[in-house]
Order: sequence, then C-alpha cells, then structure tokens
Amino acid sequence: MKILVLNSGSSSIKYKLFDIYNSSFDVLAEGMVDRLGQEGSVLKYDRRVEDNIISEKLEREIKDHRDGLKQISDLLIDPKIGVLESSEDLNAIGHRIVHGGEKFSGQMVIDQEVKNQIKSLFDLAPLHNPPNYTGIEVCEEVFPGIPQVGVFDTAFHQTIPEVAYRYAIPESWYTDHHIRAYGFHGTSHRYVTEKAREFLGNANSKKIITLHLGNGASMAAIKDGQCVDTSMGFSPLAGLIMGTRSGDLDPSVPIYMINNHNLSAGEVDKILNKESGLYGIGGDSDMRDLEQRMKKGDKSASLAINMYTYRIKQYIGNFTAIMNGLDTLVFTAGVGENSDFIRKEICRNLDYFGIELDKNLNSNRSEMVRKINSENSKINILIVPTNEELAIAQRTYDVLER
Ligand code: AMP
Repeated sequence: MKILVLNSGSSSIKYKLFDIYNSSFDVLAEGMVDRLGQEGSVLKYDRRVEDNIISEKLEREIKDHRDGLKQISDLLIDPKIGVLESSEDLNAIGHRIVHGGEKFSGQMVIDQEVKNQIKSLFDLAPLHNPPNYTGIEVCEEVFPGIPQVGVFDTAFHQTIPEVAYRYAIPESWYTDHHIRAYGFHGTSHRYVTEKAREFLGNANSKKIITLHLGNGASMAAIKDGQCVDTSMGFSPLAGLIMGTRSGDLDPSVPIYMINNHNLSAGEVDKILNKESGLYGIGGDSDMRDLEQRMKKGDKSASLAINMYTYRIKQYIGNFTAIMNGLDTLVFTAGVGENSDFIRKEICRNLDYFGIELDKNLNSNRSEMVRKINSENSKINILIVPTNEELAIAQRTYDVLER
C-alpha cells in the first residue's frame, strides 16, 4: 500500500511517500515545495533508489498550492525519476490538519462533512486550517478518487478533562465562541508516548510528561496513555517559551500595549508570535546559536536560555502535581532530541522529584529511543525521536484498514 503524507502550510507543502509492506513503513520519496507563489520558489525531491537517497532541488516557478501539488504528482510519476507507475498507484493521502476543534478526537476519512467542519474552524486557526483545506481540495483534482484522511493536531488532547481545558471567563465565551484550551502537536505527543510505552512497558509508564521542544514547543501530561493536560491552549501561542513565540503571559499585557503604546491588535499579535520568545529576549530563535553565545558569556543569550528552562521546570511541577506523580519524562523534537545542554539544564535541581540524568548517556548521540537517566533516578528519562509524517501515515493506514 502506498500513502502520501501532506503538510500544506501557507507558503510551503511538505510531502512524504510511504510504501507499506508487512507492517513496515518505508519512505520512497520526500521533499517540500517552498516559497509558494513567491520569487525563488523551489521544489525539493529526495527519492530512494535501492539503498541510496538521490536528492534534487528544482528551482522553478510554482504559482500556488494547485501548481505545487501538480508538480509533486508529476515528479512522483515521472518515467525517469518517479517512484510511482501512475497516480492510481497511490492508495491514500494523509493530511496533517492543525485544528480539529471539539469534533475530532481521532483521524477521519475526509468527506464533505469533514471538509465543512475544517472550514468552520478557519476563524480559530486562521494561519493553518485554510492552507490545510486548500491541500485537500487540490488533491481531489490532482489525485481524483484517492481516499484522503485528516489527522488532527488537536485530536490527542480531546481526553483532557473540562477542569483543565476551560478558562475562567464568562461561560458564553465558551458556548458561543468556543474559547477553551485545545492543545497542539498532538500527533507528536501521541507518537512519542506510544514509543515510550512500548520501550518501558505500560506498567512503568503510567504517568508520563512529554516535552516536544522544537521551534514551536509544548508539553503534555499523559496518564495511562491518555492526555490529561497540555501547555498550549486556545492557540499555539500559549505555554512554553518558543523560538519566536512568547508562551504564557499576563493577559493584560497585550491590552496595555494596545491602549497605551499605539500598537494595533494585529501588530501585537505579530510581535507575540514572531518577535518574542527566545528571539525577543536573546536576539536569536535558534537554540544552537544561543547556546554558543551563552558559552561565550553573552548575558542576553544566558537569560533567554534560563527563562526557557525555568518555564519548562514550572510545567514539570504543574503536571506532576495534577497527575499526583510521575514515572517518565520524554524529550523529543529539535532541541529535545539534540541538545544535551538544554536537557541537563532542565533536569538540574529536580532531585526532589527523583529526576537524575546520567551525564554520559545524556551526551551520547543516537537516532534510537534511549534511556538517559542515572541508575539512582526514580524517574525514567527518555529521548524518543519524533516522526510526525510516519505517525500520520500510520493513522491513515489504520483508518483504511478499519
Ligand atoms: P524543530 O522545530 O523540531 O525542527 O526544532 C528546531 C530547533 O531545534 C531549533 O531551535 C534548533 O536550533 C534546535 N536544534 C537542532 N539541533 C540542535 C542541537 N544540536 N543543539 C541545540 N539545538 C538544536
């Protein structure tokens, strides 16, 4: 069975084509279309030929999503460099959909009703759901008759209880305007949870905290495999300090800046999303650059990193309290998987909770799921590489099998 996974953003489309055989998911081709509709648009295409990966970077005009997906489809079936005989060779398309609202607690075959629901959530996710939706509509034209499945970033968080997802605001804001915490990065939190529980056994992983620390960052509290709380909220702006997003903030700050400092709501929105976080404090959004500067004694880089790890520790305490305990911490995504320094800073002085890293295991590099806690640690500390595309392909496969 062949499944194409698509992540359609506002100016890019990422794709990965999987071949599924005997429960193993092999990547046949992957890449992205970047700078859609802009000057310098580019189509990247890596294909597997026996055990080698052959990479192409094609600079060409790509007008819009339709054009981009058409060009991806043409490449995949190209007689010389394609990996499919024809577009009918494809069995399904799995789409990453950012916002599923309260309706979707799992993956869904996309029909007109699901499309209407995704459309009705445009207001709640104006940057993400419209390009996700366009990706679906264009696939109907470019790959006619091929089943499409939506995998929602919010779905894994639908088990969060009301006491955690409601905000202390007038009830009508919730009932009339759907203002509540939804949570995001759910596909990744679910994937690394399942991997951690396979690795440790369910009896040793009843109370997990997952730390998805990438450019966007969030944490989730997972009890017996079900999500019970998460750090992102109504939007992906809440919670942890991120590359350019502020994370949690006194809600009166944006109002004060609008009322007293001549900023529009749109400007404040842009500043909190694109000019805050690590970048706002330390002048860099990339953790590697900040670490280097901190090691050279740079004060603003140090402050950014200290605030970043401080906030994460706050959430570890918060989630440990609401689960009445903890047995496993899971690090994932760009920073979580790769930065031994940040992992060390997060785990430092958490011995009260029984969290203790092993210095050597923490600094070993590997692509595998691995344990990095000391023998004395009461808590398992794992690194689990995330793979959102694979998770989407697996969910798509599950729906079709059902
Ligand atoms: P992601 O969004 O998951 O791709 O993660 C991107 C983030 O991971 C960026 O802030 C990178 O600086 C960070 N990152 C990747 N590799 C490393 C590394 N070796 N050390 C520190 N941060 C890293």
